[in-house]
Amino acid sequence: MTLLDPIPAPGCGCDAEHGSLASVPNALAWALACVRPQTRTECVPLHLAAGRVLATAVRAQTDLPRFACAAMDGYALRFGDAQAAALPVSGTAAAGQPPATLRPGTAMRIFTGAPLPHGADTVVMQEDTRPATGNAIALISAPIRGAHIRLPGEDQRAGDVLIAEGQRLDALAIGSCAGAGAGELQVFCRPKVSVLVTGDELTTAGSPLAEGAIWDVNGPMISAALTAAGCELVDLIRLPDQPDLLRATLFKLARRNDMIVTSGGASVGDRDHMADVLADLGAKSQVAGIAIKPGKPTTVATISGTPVLALPGNPLAAFTLWQILGRAMIARLSGAMPETTTCRHVRVTGPLRHTPGRCEYRPAHIVGYGPDGLECVVCPDTTYSARLSQAQAADGFILFPADCEGLSQGDLAEFLPFQ
Ligand code: AMP
Ligand code: MG
Repeated sequence: MTLLDPIPAPGCGCDAEHGSLASVPNALAWALACVRPQTRTECVPLHLAAGRVLATAVRAQTDLPRFACAAMDGYALRFGDAQAAALPVSGTAAAGQPPATLRPGTAMRIFTGAPLPHGADTVVMQEDTRPATGNAIALISAPIRGAHIRLPGEDQRAGDVLIAEGQRLDALAIGSCAGAGAGELQVFCRPKVSVLVTGDELTTAGSPLAEGAIWDVNGPMISAALTAAGCELVDLIRLPDQPDLLRATLFKLARRNDMIVTSGGASVGDRDHMADVLADLGAKSQVAGIAIKPGKPTTVATISGTPVLALPGNPLAAFTLWQILGRAMIARLSGAMPETTTCRHVRVTGPLRHTPGRCEYRPAHIVGYGPDGLECVVCPDTTYSARLSQAQAADGFILFPADCEGLSQGDLAEFLPFQ
């Protein structure tokens, strides 16, 4: 492909395999194939349903609005009476009351949301009237028939699907459910997920560091990402690089979780035991290495049907592969409909190197718009998989196709926003 090809949506176009490494699209497809969507459901009160995935579609119980009502504060009248020099005010219609009846030849004071009085067919805004002699009003200008009235069912019809099964519920969706009278929602149970980080050098953040030790970044980071994605975080376990311990722990975790995310030990060093441990446990490896930078050693396997996403230890690599594979796996596990994350074209603000071979996802920060209306991005000259700070100020990744030999200032690049 060239960088000027239209963007296929969704996907990045980085579809090159590299030796035995899977292409990114294949890795994603195979990872998703490991995941069985959640089927257990529970009923939750509406106000506690944010972030949950709807298991049963919500339909409107009634038309909305349920009855004709005023869209403005003003006066309800018969359009045919609008020619009169003045209209006596014959009463008041307020929200929450049953509809009144309008006497012919009169106007009724009406407030927003009040049922339209029987006999009225038009509402005149208060600002378009003036007081007339006695308890009467005069119209400043000729009204439009039917103006300022909300008609029954103009927003939604009884029986309409408002929120579909598989939708993740946000404040807007919850508002729609409330408007439709749904007090409780049937949602999928949160997937139970545990995080296992491995590394002899790792120490829990907040504890003093021994010489040569580092603080565990991925444990808290992946745990936070899982919680934000609507999972029940069952365990966060940190272990040294000891195969026996890893094996026993993974075996236990696989029995009481819907998915496991690991970090570290996924590469080919002497202290990298994840692949062997997974093999010892009879895990079926679906992905064993991906043609991507960063994150090449990522593995996806299943232990007795429980998917395991084994991320590399380098924090930016772990974050990147969480964004590409982890989120999509969790969405599927949660019963959510697939997210459509589409790339868009941006322009790079400086020359950028890339070594052909594997595609690269490089953190990029949007800094503004160019004269052609496209966003311009700034990003580092290379990706360091250990430098999480590269992603800190970034808004997403720009994608270097495997065969790309670098970009010049002003070139187009595909941009994948962070989720
Ligand atoms: P590994 O994937 O275990 O070979 O680790 C690759 C690099 O990432 C090494 O420099 C590790 O020290 C570092 N690393 C591994 N796990 C973590 C972690 N949980 N937090 C921060 N850095 C890590
Ligand atoms: Mg390690």
